[in-house]
Amino acid sequence: MTPTAVFNGLVGQDKAVSELEKAISSARSNSSGQEMTHAWLFTGPPGSGRSNIAKAFAASLVCSNSGCGTCTDCKSALAGSHQDVELFAVNGLAIKVDEIREIVARSAWSSSVSRWRVIVIEDCDRMTEAAGNALLRAIEEPGTSTVWLLCAPTLHDVIPTIRSRCRHVQLRTPSKSEITDFLISSLEVTIKEATFAAGLSQGHIGKARSYISDKNFKSTRQKLFQIFFSVTSEKKALHSAQELVNLAEGRVESKFAELIEKENESSKSIYQGTGRGLAAGGSKALKELEKDQKARTNRAIKDELDGYLLEYTSALRDCLVSKDQRLNYDLAEELENFSSKISPGGISKILSDLSTTRNLLNSNTSQTLLLEGFFLKVYRATSGH
Ligand SMILES: [Zn+2]
Repeated sequence: MTPTAVFNGLVGQDKAVSELEKAISSARSNSSGQEMTHAWLFTGPPGSGRSNIAKAFAASLVCSNSGCGTCTDCKSALAGSHQDVELFAVNGLAIKVDEIREIVARSAWSSSVSRWRVIVIEDCDRMTEAAGNALLRAIEEPGTSTVWLLCAPTLHDVIPTIRSRCRHVQLRTPSKSEITDFLISSLEVTIKEATFAAGLSQGHIGKARSYISDKNFKSTRQKLFQIFFSVTSEKKALHSAQELVNLAEGRVESKFAELIEKENESSKSIYQGTGRGLAAGGSKALKELEKDQKARTNRAIKDELDGYLLEYTSALRDCLVSKDQRLNYDLAEELENFSSKISPGGISKILSDLSTTRNLLNSNTSQTLLLEGFFLKVYRATSGH
């Protein structure tokens, strides 16, 4: 295994990986070169692997073999249980100032077993302004052994003052053939299945993998498009909106059910153990936990719905391109039928409505209302009303 094997799971990011490898070798040789620095910002489109590359970099900094991928240091760093590596992912909708303050306080601890103390913060675009400012102060005066690894979709998602203090690593969207090769080499899958999943994923590695491994993928996809194609009256448009929301809620609920139960159990046992019981600090903490869980669930439902709309986008784009460029092979017949009811201009209009609806998912507007509006437009465009 090569020394930086920990980066092997990344797809199509050779340029970024080679920059990090230089930093690792510079950090190890204690050279005075500029390759290593104390704050890094990883940006890239969803699914390009920005948090994975940050975690792999963290592992390689604490591994005595520069990121072998197999030693205890590497494995625990990647899993978030290494003493010198802290992985922070947003729990609710936003990263709060108190959370950043706690991380900053811990960042000052000296490392226990390795040369570096590494802190990975995913989704820095979700920091509140106050949280951003608290982080800025820490990055301005980093400890000699502290390394900050921040992740965000684009540079513009991070305040300029933080941006300017970080070394920027830009990830690219991996190509369809890169994803296909990756799926074939890492999962038990046929070339046909890999090509289909890679095409549908639109450059999102995690999605491509889950298309292969999610047992419910096919049935969810079926339901998703059944909802879309059944919009043949105003009443059905409203019904489809509700069904889509129900589908997303159901998927998210079953995804989090086990985790929520575990969190509730462990929270209760902590307070019962203090002898204060649930009546004192415990009930307040439980309420706080419930609030966080709710925020996390809401966020996940939005993401789930956004994913559905992205699938609609991909399918409708197929209606506008030549047959050999289509990705949604499994919907050929339905899309043919849909195209016969609407002009290419009408399809372009729905694509733009999809994009607007996706943007509005992040506002406070009710999701059901937004989707009702969207499906009504689909109905009118396909019925000539
Ligand atoms: Zn290792």
